[in-house]
Amino acid sequence: MFLSTPIEYLKGIGPARGELLKKELQIFTFNDLLFHFPYRHIDRSKVYKVKDLRPDMPYVQVKGCLYNLRTLGTKGGQRLVAELKDDTGTLELVWFQGHKWIKESIKANKEYLVFGKPNEFNGTINIVHPNLDDPEDAAIKKYLHIMPMYNCTEKMKARGVDSKTIMKWVNTLLLNPAFDIEESLSENIKASNGLMDRKAALFTIHFPANPAELAKASHRLKFEEFFFIQLKLLRYKVKRHQLFNGIKLENIGELFNTFYHSCLPFELTNAQKRVIKEIRADVKRGIQMNRLVQGDVGSGKTVVALMSMLMTIDNGYQACMMAPTEILATQHFETIHQLTKTLPVKVQLLMGSTPAREKKKIYLQLENGEIDLLIGTHALIENKVNFKNLGMAIVDEQHRFGVEQRARLWQKNTYPPHVLVMTATPIPRTLAMTLYGDLDTSVIDELPAGRKPIQTLMRYDSSRLAVYGFMKNEIQKGRQIYIVYPLIEESEKLDYKNLVEGYEIICKEFPEPTYNVSILHGRLKTAEKEFEMNRFIRGETNIMVATTVIEVGVNVPNASVMIVESAQKFGLSQLHQLRGRVGRGADQSYCILMSDIKKSAEAKQRLNTMVETTDGFKIAEADLKLRGPGELEGTAQSGILDLKIGDLAKDTAILALARTVAEEVLSKDPEFKLAENRAMAKFDALYRKTAKWGRIS
Ligand code: ADP
Ligand code: MG
Repeated sequence: MFLSTPIEYLKGIGPARGELLKKELQIFTFNDLLFHFPYRHIDRSKVYKVKDLRPDMPYVQVKGCLYNLRTLGTKGGQRLVAELKDDTGTLELVWFQGHKWIKESIKANKEYLVFGKPNEFNGTINIVHPNLDDPEDAAIKKYLHIMPMYNCTEKMKARGVDSKTIMKWVNTLLLNPAFDIEESLSENIKASNGLMDRKAALFTIHFPANPAELAKASHRLKFEEFFFIQLKLLRYKVKRHQLFNGIKLENIGELFNTFYHSCLPFELTNAQKRVIKEIRADVKRGIQMNRLVQGDVGSGKTVVALMSMLMTIDNGYQACMMAPTEILATQHFETIHQLTKTLPVKVQLLMGSTPAREKKKIYLQLENGEIDLLIGTHALIENKVNFKNLGMAIVDEQHRFGVEQRARLWQKNTYPPHVLVMTATPIPRTLAMTLYGDLDTSVIDELPAGRKPIQTLMRYDSSRLAVYGFMKNEIQKGRQIYIVYPLIEESEKLDYKNLVEGYEIICKEFPEPTYNVSILHGRLKTAEKEFEMNRFIRGETNIMVATTVIEVGVNVPNASVMIVESAQKFGLSQLHQLRGRVGRGADQSYCILMSDIKKSAEAKQRLNTMVETTDGFKIAEADLKLRGPGELEGTAQSGILDLKIGDLAKDTAILALARTVAEEVLSKDPEFKLAENRAMAKFDALYRKTAKWGRIS
């Protein structure tokens, strides 16, 4: 087929440049070139006169004759200089690099269209590394009014292949009589969503007639990209439902009811009730549940998890709950043990640090069904752990677990247990749709009543004394305080030093016996960590100096002040998690973000976002915009995000539309048997085979 032709066969490319394209841009075929979309377009319809150029202008274009090409300067600091003259004056052109190629490719006494950014140097205007075009060149003439700009690497430029070269190749490709493009969407979908034809869109994305056309082409291609990803994800979901008969948890039993009526220390929020109902509806229908519960920090996910597990045990099955850290697992164990102590349920804790003898006993009791409810860390998914009849597995704070670990949970049985994933890192809707597109989602969008919004303040290191004063006041009122130091892997030593120094200063400022200070960091042994944590939980210490080991999940309602040191070093979701450690009781809570005056614009924006909102979803959106999806936790390993044109931070609406349309199509014609859907079947199959969008022709 024409589009799968190896790239070196395109007129003007050949073996050497073909190699370059493969190595530098992973362009192997005509099709890959077609999908090497411009990163932007520039308007070059206006031609300026030399006398009108000013150093504060953006990119401009001038037409003139090139004179006096010469090399200046000494070896090592050489530059190539030329003059460009039009009927109003003379402009200097300067190159610091690529002299050989430029000397070979441009000629003196010839007319050129010069494109670049004007600068002022020693009182005269020049352009450094200008783009030179032959005004008579047909391709240039044709596309000058709105010209595509293509990414290319330094290596390519050194060998004379730049954006313009690529533009010409794309032009050659599109104008080839054999060039043809199959439609990938049904006429119906195109018509009802106002989408451009595929062929027209692919042509227009490179060479649009005007900005409006460009926008339409880009909309069509984004839709297509999202649509096929969504089809793939939705198919997973459908298939899982068909493949796995879930365990039927039909009864609301004794444990659940007794817990609800006599053990729950508070009234559930409406959101908690709703989510429990959603889970209940899932598990009684005989289909395996895969549900993501999103709930902001402090929204009360733990009881939802517990009640789901009780539901499971009521039906004669075991349940387990996995947490990312030992501190958190221990805390879950204690909370749940406490809440269920009057119920006939055997709850057990299993972690890496559990003594070997104890572990052996636990393994045995899991296999013979003595243990009803197991709480722990990664130790839960080790091969040695076998349940008698696991009915539900809960993964808390999912962002610490990979998709793979989630899958391992399913293999714990001959039949897969129901899986509930809980995350306190709210994920923007677009990301949730892509990363967890195969899961059903529930949202706990309400905090328990009576919580006062946390006050967030930014303070510079210079006002430290005032902050200490404030801390003493709070401690006097009986409150407890966290002080968190960053712990970044590359500079772990330095951070450790900061933490220890910080601890010493705090101990001096807050001396015993009036005050007691705890310290907690990754270098402590598990038993030591537990000891320190427990002292703080019991209120025996007033201040907890810690690294981010306390980031996730820890629940000490009496702690009402969170001080984050070097807050500029933390990411938004981390800051949000940290702030979530306070505001859990009835008292007014505070989060104080300490930082240097000097910090990057992005860091400033992060801290401002924290001050402005406590809404986890808004913070997640801001995070996505600031960092881009590739940087967000848990997304890196997902090939799904290898998007060709769609942008998860900006294209929310198109993605949502694509998902809705994909759902509709699948519900009406899941196998694409209808004639009108045949075109899509082919692309769907191709897309399922390869995650790389651009490889599809
Ligand atoms: P997260 O969603 O962050 O895991 P937790 O489950 O740790 O939140 O709950 C935070 C705190 O709120 C706990 O102290 C818990 O006992 C309390 N809590 C949970 N649900 C309610 C409720 N409906 N009313 C009052 N307090 C609640
Ligand atoms: Mg939690």
